[in-house]
Amino acid sequence: MSVKATKMLSEADGYDLLRQFNVPAPAFEIVQTQDDAAKAATKIGYPVVMKIVSPQIIHKSDAGGVIVGIKTDAEAKEAFNKIVTSAKAYDASAEIKGVIVEEMAKPGLELIIGGKIDPAFGRVLTFGLGGTLVEFYKDVGIRLLPCDDEDIRTLIHQIKAYTLIRGYRGQAPLDEEFLFQTLKNACAFFEKNDNVVEFDINPLRLYEKGGCAVDARVIVQ
Ligand code: ADP
Ligand code: MG
Repeated sequence: MSVKATKMLSEADGYDLLRQFNVPAPAFEIVQTQDDAAKAATKIGYPVVMKIVSPQIIHKSDAGGVIVGIKTDAEAKEAFNKIVTSAKAYDASAEIKGVIVEEMAKPGLELIIGGKIDPAFGRVLTFGLGGTLVEFYKDVGIRLLPCDDEDIRTLIHQIKAYTLIRGYRGQAPLDEEFLFQTLKNACAFFEKNDNVVEFDINPLRLYEKGGCAVDARVIVQ
């Protein structure tokens, strides 16, 4: 059996692909200099988030490669330099393709939507509580593809964090219909792109109305 080489798409390419399947993602621009970082941030509108773009750096936060809440041109320039310096210190051999400047999404419940190919069962969809502490929470459910509406509802209702989605202790409920539709869209994305072998949207931020992906990792072969 031949094993085909796989490659991780950039966050930007991941967003572009997900948008084609109606998964909302932030406006962004990739820049190579601190001056362009400030220009892009002004165009997008402050506050912005900036992150490292490198195929070798998978967990950007671990590499000091994510800065949120950038509010001025001076901060954007400083963030650019800080991100590149941290990334180089983290992995001197990493190829740095630039820095992505993104619209800063408002706070929301951070969820994960993922897909992978199980050696025994084939394509599976995962869903749960996300963010940088995903391995810590371990609040994730899994379903074989193809999924029907019922499967997706079950996936949503099964996780512990569903209590938060439904509205915890007097808090307003979050947009379960948006979440349901986004999971369906993510299934379609995974089923219709044969070359995608793994992906995760971590996090997808969920709001009282709508939501937004603020990270995308897509592996193709
Ligand atoms: P990592 O590669 O470490 O997973 P992420 O892109 O997920 O990096 O960023 C880490 C965290 O920063 C996210 O979990 C989220 O809380 C926050 N974040 C990232 N991008 C944005 C954004 N565009 N708007 C708001 N918060 C963001
Ligand atoms: Mg992430």
